[in-house]
Amino acid sequence: MSVLETTPIEKVALERYVAPAKPSLVGLSRAALADALGGLGVPEAQRKMRVQQIWHWIYVRGATSFDVMTSVSKELRAKLDENFTLARPEIVAEQISVDGTRKWLLRLPGEVPGERPHEVECVYIPDEDRGTLCVSSQVGCTLNCSFCHTGTQRLVRNLTPGEIVGQVMVARDRLGDFASPLPDHPGGASKRLVTNIVMMGMGEPLYNLDHVRDALAVVADGEGLSISKRRITLSTSGVVPEIARAGEEIGCMLAISLHAVNDELRNQLVPLNRKYPIAQLLAACRHYPGVSNSRRITFEYVMLKGVNDSVEDAKALVRLLKGIPAKINLIPFNPWPGTKYECSDWEQIEKFSQIVFDAGYASPVRTPRGRDILAACGQLKSATEKLSARERLALRAMAMVDSE
Ligand code: SAH
Ligand code: SF4
Repeated sequence: MSVLETTPIEKVALERYVAPAKPSLVGLSRAALADALGGLGVPEAQRKMRVQQIWHWIYVRGATSFDVMTSVSKELRAKLDENFTLARPEIVAEQISVDGTRKWLLRLPGEVPGERPHEVECVYIPDEDRGTLCVSSQVGCTLNCSFCHTGTQRLVRNLTPGEIVGQVMVARDRLGDFASPLPDHPGGASKRLVTNIVMMGMGEPLYNLDHVRDALAVVADGEGLSISKRRITLSTSGVVPEIARAGEEIGCMLAISLHAVNDELRNQLVPLNRKYPIAQLLAACRHYPGVSNSRRITFEYVMLKGVNDSVEDAKALVRLLKGIPAKINLIPFNPWPGTKYECSDWEQIEKFSQIVFDAGYASPVRTPRGRDILAACGQLKSATEKLSARERLALRAMAMVDSE
């Protein structure tokens, strides 16, 4: 049996997870927030107005405690405080790259008996005309793409909507980026810093579609965080049966991690391809709700030296995407410790990109950002896991000493 056949397509995600006793209101839908207020005795006729007020405090002003909510009665504030928090994921570490990219390691609330606290990473990438936040959808990823560091993580669980929205809140907190911040909160510039969201952090968003959908509805709310669906891109490794639903229920932009032009190679790079091969994936793209020349699908293609980067591959890529309103993103491979792949030579990337360009596609080569802080694509892996890898090594070393 080949190595490929023995690599399982996916791992199993954890289902046992104990939420914190006092939940955060961050990430609740307006309807859920109204229900929560109902539970505190707010009469139905008042709920809509109260939701509106609280929503504004949380998402426009960046409130982190109920006592600042001066438009809400003291009595209700006290009740809110007894039963809920406005907590975001806790920042364990913040790293700032020489190019301005910032990476946060975030600890999630709640716990799983016998497991360490769960952590995810979130990355902010500033550019001249925009600021992109790369958001995680899972702790780790159940899929095992062979070139991706996140895929090697053992522990996997789906994030809740609050934990997904919470990443945007953390970024706005740290960047001082709320639209109308409270006096003790920095920021308030007329221009927002976080303008775009890409669901390209840890995890496969289409394996957590319901929570991602609910979270993005909060993020896109025009009276709150206000990041429009056209500025939100969801990236998938190709979970074909969920692609149409993402279009219908979320309505965001779509990116496909293609990386290979034939099934044989894609099976190796993205084992999920054994379940949903390229032809099925591209058929789903052709039918993606709302796809048009002004709403193109982005195809991501990681440049792996000697693996998928030949001139023939480039020509085949162009042929394959014919008829699909597409953009092509060539991503230089970001190496990580222990990987067997290398990034294509610059010259080869240019040759490849020229063919794609000549075929009529703008083919920006995504400059790797935040390499010095391991913040680039596929390098996100939580410290928890790194620690346990280190511990495993230490254990192995101890075992060796013992056996001597
Ligand atoms: N699971 C989703 C989204 C997260 S991965 C997906 O696979 O699309 C985000 C992007 O980073 C994907 O295109 C992924 O293929 C790419 N990527 C993963 N590891 C990488 C690496 N080491 N170098 C460059 N890009 C990588
Ligand atoms: Fe998961 Fe995406 Fe990494 Fe594949 S590339 S292992 S789907 S995060």
